[in-house]
Amino acid sequence: MKILEILNSTFNLTSFKEGQQEAIDAILEKKDLIAVLPTGGGKSLIYQLPSVLAKSGITIVISPLISLMKDQVDSLNRLGVPAAFCNSSQDELEQLKIISEAVNGKIKLLYISPERALSSSFLNYFSKMKVNFIAVDEAHCVSQWGHDFRPDYRELSKLRDVKKDIFFVALTATATKKVILDIQRSLGLQAPVIIKKSFLRKNLSFNVEYFTTDFDKEKRLLDLLNSEIFNKVHGKGIIYSATRSKADELNKFLQSNGIKSTVYHAGKSDSIRLKNQDTYFKGKSRLMIATNAFGMGVDSSDVRLIVHYQTPASIESYYQEAGRAGRDGKASKCILFFQKKDLVVQNFIIRKESNFKNGETLFGEMKSYIFSETCRQKIICNYFGEEIESCGNCDLCNPSDLNSDRKDYLENSQKLADQKEIKKIYNFNEDELEIIKSIFQKLPGIFGKNMIISILRGSKLKKILRLKLDKKEEFGKLKHIPEEAISFKIEEWLKDKILIEKGQKYPLLYLKEFPPQNRKEKVAEEIKLGIRKEKFVTPEQNLVKLLKAYRDREARRLKWKKFMVLHNATLIRIAKLKPESLNDLIHVKGLGEAKISKFGKGILDIIEKYGR
Ligand code: ADP
Ligand code: MG
Ligand code: ZN
Repeated sequence: MKILEILNSTFNLTSFKEGQQEAIDAILEKKDLIAVLPTGGGKSLIYQLPSVLAKSGITIVISPLISLMKDQVDSLNRLGVPAAFCNSSQDELEQLKIISEAVNGKIKLLYISPERALSSSFLNYFSKMKVNFIAVDEAHCVSQWGHDFRPDYRELSKLRDVKKDIFFVALTATATKKVILDIQRSLGLQAPVIIKKSFLRKNLSFNVEYFTTDFDKEKRLLDLLNSEIFNKVHGKGIIYSATRSKADELNKFLQSNGIKSTVYHAGKSDSIRLKNQDTYFKGKSRLMIATNAFGMGVDSSDVRLIVHYQTPASIESYYQEAGRAGRDGKASKCILFFQKKDLVVQNFIIRKESNFKNGETLFGEMKSYIFSETCRQKIICNYFGEEIESCGNCDLCNPSDLNSDRKDYLENSQKLADQKEIKKIYNFNEDELEIIKSIFQKLPGIFGKNMIISILRGSKLKKILRLKLDKKEEFGKLKHIPEEAISFKIEEWLKDKILIEKGQKYPLLYLKEFPPQNRKEKVAEEIKLGIRKEKFVTPEQNLVKLLKAYRDREARRLKWKKFMVLHNATLIRIAKLKPESLNDLIHVKGLGEAKISKFGKGILDIIEKYGR
């Protein structure tokens, strides 16, 4: 059969991996396709093989990373397949040369970044190419629910506006329903064939280890790297950290302990990143310390150990990163180091991003992975919408593997949680509830929950003293009630919509019955408190305001631009000089005779009425 022949002669492979054949069949039938296969599942072959098979025409491959494109093109060229990439690493002439080769059908695959693909210059050539289909690699980048959102990916359906007869092949390892639906909608796919294969990785053992101090973590990492898990086997390791500074710090720490490692993150220059990546791929260093910037499309089959030194932000990113272990099918370990403060680090990182709300829910799933009682891979596969039997290979499937700290850790956390839970329980009497309402009534929409609780409990916070909030009648009135209980009551009121929350990052609270009446009142209250400085408006500033209003009216009437009527600077000069006659107006810079004859009278009227 033709397909198998090409698999063999061009790609030097003997059989398909799971899902590949089905996907290739869909492409040969020219159907829109979404292929969801785990990392290392062989997604590239799915679009590469039909491209080689096609007698004429070209495949456009949308790819998010320059390094990824280069790797893929290099390996295709090694196999004798004419392919090229086009991106900002090349000068214009080079890009033009490649695009003209594509137009003339000299290459079979053109890898291109989404930004470049959507540029008007490319679209122009694109319309002249004979294109068979468009492969969108790492297609989860279209989705805000994924972990590498790239806004340009959302515009890719424009390519079909230029060429109605092409179809899309979307490839990703992210399998949540939300993301798949997003890919389908955003690319405008018509009843696509969806191929999704199991995410279970039998050869990987997933563990979580629990730590209370940094010292313990460092010690454990050294032990791991010196133990048979890593030291006595061939193959590589990756240590992922949540921040760049931590990656650098760990790299130094390991080197000072005699372990050869290299480092990769977005804070390093391109050339250093390339150099370090090379050091790692060539095995000069078996250990890469990296942030999540490292690894998309990385194709090292013999990664034996992946340690997450800090908790990643979502199960998706965790699984993508950990999934880089054991691509050759041999036993490999994925260990997550968990420390309570990771929760703070991740919340902080998530908050910095614009869609932190999404991040928070994604992170919630991560927490349930960490504190799970059942098979780790089960949790992961369930998250991706797949039911599996227990993997038999993780720490929860083999409780003897469980790090004994886990039990202590969970017991301690439970105790703390119980104590907190107990503190929440408090029967407020009517007076106490009135006091809470009264402080909200006096300070509507000005503070968040913590500040209100601090006032009620009589905290001597600097901010409270500075704003003289300790002079409020309600100050300290609920000192006898635990913070958790007041907080719980406020949450309850929020749920019941008695209280309303405004703003996402720093939500401010007010009673639904007593909203901050209007901005003016809120400003007045804030000035009274000293949070906001009173703005003193001089008569002169007032006159400028009136003159501006007049100028704007005239501009509307004449359908002129405002500055064509009068410049702001001119209005300020007029307000300063307060001219009394048309003659005086001549002395104002910016006023010529033409303007004076048009607007002079109007200006003088305003000065006459309000100005002096
Ligand atoms: P993905 O993009 O799904 O993460 P890749 O396309 O990068 O995976 O492929 C991962 C590895 O699997 C590559 O080394 C590739 O050569 C190999 N591979 C792909 N298809 C097959 C196959 N049918 N048989 C054996 N190896 C394959
Ligand atoms: Mg890939
Ligand atoms: Zn398991």
